[in-house]
Amino acid sequence: MSIVVVGSVAYDTVITPYGRAEETLGGAATFFSVAASYFCPVQVVGVVGEDFSEADVDVFRERDIDIQGIARRPGRSFRWGGEYSLNLNERKTLFTELNVFEDFDPELPPSYREARHVFLANIAPQLQLSVLDQVEQPRLVALDTMNYWIEGSRDALVEVLGRIDILVINDEEARQLADEYNLVRAAETILAMGPSVIVIKRGEHGATAFLGDEVFTIPGYPLRELADPTGAGDSFAGGFMGHLVRSGEHGPEGLRRAIVAGSVMASFCVEEFSLGGIRDLDEDRIATRYRAFQALTRFGDL
Ligand code: AMP
Repeated sequence: MSIVVVGSVAYDTVITPYGRAEETLGGAATFFSVAASYFCPVQVVGVVGEDFSEADVDVFRERDIDIQGIARRPGRSFRWGGEYSLNLNERKTLFTELNVFEDFDPELPPSYREARHVFLANIAPQLQLSVLDQVEQPRLVALDTMNYWIEGSRDALVEVLGRIDILVINDEEARQLADEYNLVRAAETILAMGPSVIVIKRGEHGATAFLGDEVFTIPGYPLRELADPTGAGDSFAGGFMGHLVRSGEHGPEGLRRAIVAGSVMASFCVEEFSLGGIRDLDEDRIATRYRAFQALTRFGDL
């Protein structure tokens, strides 16, 4: 069982209170794929330019990630720059250079079309729809988006929301999408748009999920050293979806465990710049941190 992901493969320039990284490998599909690949095989759809290095291709090749669906086009790869203040939940976008992404028309290799699981990472909703149309019988579809599309492509976004099962989104975006500050009410409004599950990422405060009649909340992992929150949301989504695919349990109990797996991957991601925190993990380290999350939220009876 594998998962298809479509999204950006990028070179990021990031400034945080703990340092800076220039032109390092990033992109939503990259963080997602590497995080998910600890749980299930991944098939990526994306585009890079002529400047995309072999060393960066190796980051995918080293893991169980199929890159047949990454097209190489004339021009430069997508580039993004961001800066964080001490409050790592807030970031300023310094620049977004679409480059080869501008004319990207995703085409799925035949072997991807039979996938049952799909993650539509944060890209134009029109492209998310195009990918979904090419998958023959999707069984579990999840989506991420951002303020840029909520403001600029609302109609296409609402259309794609009507065709997905799970929305993974951050708190500010949930408020904006629902036009409602209260997160419980915002989730109700969004659930009425189509998805049956919404997982709200809350940065260092963890995540809150609305799973049918149930609400599940998990804290952020208390880390002593942090480097860079870029990609934490996509790493969360990768761990979450990868775990769901591997377990095959899509009910509330399976979703709860998948949310912990997502939180584990996000907590590793923020410890280093770029892919450094999640590239060289192993089952043991993932399981140990999963147990640390269990211990964090264990309590007895009243
Ligand atoms: P996250 O920190 O999980 O929200 O994701 C950060 C990643 O998203 C970075 O690696 C960027 O390259 C990528 N990114 C930023 N803006 C965009 C955009 N407009 N479209 C697609 N990917 C983007």
